[in-house]
Amino acid sequence: MDGGSEATSMCAPRMSATSHLYREAGCVFGGLPACGSNDVLQHGCIHRLWREVPIGPKPVVIQMGIPRVECRKCATIRQIGVGFADERRSYTRAFARYALGLSRYMTIQDVARHLNVGWDLIKEIQKSYLQKHFSRPKLSKLSQIAIDEISIGKGPKYLTVLLTSLPGGGLCR
Ligand SMILES: [Zn+2]
Repeated sequence: MDGGSEATSMCAPRMSATSHLYREAGCVFGGLPACGSNDVLQHGCIHRLWREVPIGPKPVVIQMGIPRVECRKCATIRQIGVGFADERRSYTRAFARYALGLSRYMTIQDVARHLNVGWDLIKEIQKSYLQKHFSRPKLSKLSQIAIDEISIGKGPKYLTVLLTSLPGGGLCR
């Protein structure tokens, strides 16, 4: 890819505080323009922060300069991808795995307090996980379903639940 080494050197990571870490941008060219073209030019640099798994009680933030690239075919400008975090996320994949692990034993509020983040971030991590793993259930071997409807709060608000007869077989809502 043209300009690859130049892009990396211009966006050298820096360490700013004791609770901040930096990562080398060794996997930076994982994110290509949406059209799939490799014909890109560097288009500036943006500094990003990601929440990382805490060290003991101390919150950890990864700070890194991310090159922006412009596609010469479709003129799209976007940040290049990093290997340790999903696109448009403010936390690393390791942080998400840690939060999900804690969520098995603690409430969302407890996890958020432990990780020193808002409860909405933990909710977002859980939602993202559920969408990724359960949004498209495999129905080819489905033979039976059970349907139930429950009331939510006051007023005419209902939630319809579909279940299979298999263990853990929630289908959709
Ligand atoms: Zn393009």
